[in-house]
Amino acid sequence: MTIGAIEAGGTKFVCGLLQANSSDRARPQLIARASVPTTSPLETLEAALAFFTSSEYGHAKPDCFGIGCFGPVDLKPKSDTWGYITSTPKPLWSNTDIAGFFRSRLSLPVAFDTDVNAAAYGEFLWGAARELKDFVYITVGTGIGGGVFSGGDLVHGMIHPELGHLKLAREPGDGFAGSCPFHRDCLEGMASGPAIAARWGKRSEELPSGHPAWELEARYLARAIAAWTFTLSPERIIVGGGIGMREGMVERVAVLLKEELGGYVAALDSPPRLASYVVRPGLGAEAGLYGSAAIAMRFCAD
Ligand code: ZN
Repeated sequence: MTIGAIEAGGTKFVCGLLQANSSDRARPQLIARASVPTTSPLETLEAALAFFTSSEYGHAKPDCFGIGCFGPVDLKPKSDTWGYITSTPKPLWSNTDIAGFFRSRLSLPVAFDTDVNAAAYGEFLWGAARELKDFVYITVGTGIGGGVFSGGDLVHGMIHPELGHLKLAREPGDGFAGSCPFHRDCLEGMASGPAIAARWGKRSEELPSGHPAWELEARYLARAIAAWTFTLSPERIIVGGGIGMREGMVERVAVLLKEELGGYVAALDSPPRLASYVVRPGLGAEAGLYGSAAIAMRFCAD
């Protein structure tokens, strides 16, 4: 079985073609991959489509197709705007039909979910959450988002979880106004890559280890993870994204999480328990792409 997968992000669309053995649930093999910069919707979608239709790669036509998309997105199966990006602050991308574009141009059924829910499902099948029924996957990078797996399946609910827009108590002395256009100082507005850049006047990639930015970042992530621990009771929190996967980040978050929990969660009272509770993705930076393949495989099997 050939699977087409797109991790549709705000800065790039990562496209992949994967080969799976339909008789088992082993991780499919990535046979071709391309990255398309996210510019205008039409230009980006056409460039991504070209990857799947171009004969120069000798591609087999996909049998099933999955897209994990930045949001917010419409996931209601009966909605007229199912498969659309809805109210994003990203210029030009509001009310863009993503799933329908590929479904009609490739004449294929398309599985569609948030980028973080897709990544969570990939981690469930092949990564750091195998055998778990309750866990959270978050990405910390250009934005902050989270996918929730609860009781053995992805949570969608009324829209889909928006973990990045949780409002948190500020650290004393932190006067940064916040960068979220909707809420100012929600988690994303205080701790995403653009928030770090706005607060410190430097791109996060330019801030060295040991800079106070990273201690504050770990503190806010730990505070948010404490909130999700109390509300969702997950067995693990997987932290992905360029900032989340920085060297030392999850280790520091785990230390600060112990303080944020205030000794209230006995199951997380020791360093080894915390170290296996806050982890990097088993699929690393490819969690989103493999996750998009994972939701495609499930969709085809249903
Ligand atoms: Zn917000």
